[in-house]
Amino acid sequence: MSISYKVCRCKYCGKEIRWFKRKSGKPIPCEPWRVCYKIPEDGNGSETIITLNGDIISADKVWSNNAEGVGYITHFAACQRNQAANGEDNGGDTDGSRQHG
Ligand SMILES: [Zn+2]
Repeated sequence: MSISYKVCRCKYCGKEIRWFKRKSGKPIPCEPWRVCYKIPEDGNGSETIITLNGDIISADKVWSNNAEGVGYITHFAACQRNQAANGEDNGGDTDGSRQHG
């Protein structure tokens, strides 16, 4: 069983990513490698993962002998674009230029 995807490069960090299609038909960028996952009892995993069925789930990455299934982690968490946004920009609408004095 597999899910269709398109290989691309992220326009923010230049890494190879795969665009998967969700069940809804909406594409989502993911890391190009598969991971094994397990959904915790409270349903709040540390990763957002798309399964091979096209479902988006919240699950933890685990070693294969504990796994419930395999899927792909979304690229959002790993993307440098995110890290840059968390570091410097506090949500203001400035364009990176600061004028003072
Ligand atoms: Zn990226």
